[in-house]
Amino acid sequence: MYLIFRCDCGRAMYSKEGVVTRKCVCGKSIRVKSRRILKKAEDFQSASQAVRDLQEERYGGTGFTTANKL
Ligand SMILES: [Zn+2]
Repeated sequence: MYLIFRCDCGRAMYSKEGVVTRKCVCGKSIRVKSRRILKKAEDFQSASQAVRDLQEERYGGTGFTTANKL
């Protein structure tokens, strides 16, 4: 199971369930348990898709994700 949450900088990310801290690209280390979990995903693919959806929700889509855009 993967957990999807946001950093204080607004970036959505995911971590595998059981992981304690996750470092964001902004440099901040996030304690996963301290975050509100936005979504859960069964596998890596759904987790990365969920993160992509959240980013698009926040930033309006274009320009943020570059790879694997369908
Ligand atoms: Zn961040």
